[in-house]
Amino acid sequence: MADTVDIAALDAWIREFARLIAEHKEMLTELDSAIGDADHGINMDRGMSAVVSTLESERPGRPNQLFQRTGMTLVSTVGGASGPLYGTAFLRMSTTVGDAEQLDGNDLAKMLRAAHDGVVQRGKASPGDKTMLDALGPAVEALESAVADGQPLAEALDAAVRAAEEGRAKTIPMVARKGRASYLGERSAGHQDPGATSVTLLLAAAARSLA
Ligand code: ADP
Ligand code: MG
Repeated sequence: MADTVDIAALDAWIREFARLIAEHKEMLTELDSAIGDADHGINMDRGMSAVVSTLESERPGRPNQLFQRTGMTLVSTVGGASGPLYGTAFLRMSTTVGDAEQLDGNDLAKMLRAAHDGVVQRGKASPGDKTMLDALGPAVEALESAVADGQPLAEALDAAVRAAEEGRAKTIPMVARKGRASYLGERSAGHQDPGATSVTLLLAAAARSLA
């Protein structure tokens, strides 16, 4: 696969994610009001607005610095489970890309696999627990297999978005076993998971900005 992305495209990805979070802030908070404490949209918007401010003032020159600043800012500005979890995801992306200036599809798949595994390590959730992993896991698998098939980056990222959307929909009937929603037990079924919804926006932003 010849297509590669540089710091400008990756910076655009993070900003597009921030924009989509702001656009869907109320919806994310509404989803969290059904099975949590009604703050997921507020949390993510606070964090991603702070990230955009950080990027404006610091202008990271390499992908690893971009992800490091994003992760650190999320950890320090977002209260709630999603801050450390998204923060860990971006910090893992930072260490995985090393000092590369250009990333190809294979690099992006490895980076998102590392992000996924970081969330698993930090939050100890398994597939089917009704968390962001139920969208992120299938998305990473779809990206890996599309890249292995030699598909162009645009198609590989579109496949990842479709897998995330399907995973997100599958969280609706699930009973939550991790996070605040798990306090509701069986009553958590019938609602879409907020974190699976926001992580689908992360993939959608990637498909728009990276290909
Ligand atoms: P809080 O639950 O602390 O209020 P948020 O509302 O911002 O934090 O985020 C809730 C989302 O975090 C959930 O919808 C779920 O996707 C995700 N989440 C919660 N706990 C975990 C975990 N242990 N592993 C992975 N994701 C989790
Ligand atoms: Mg919440």
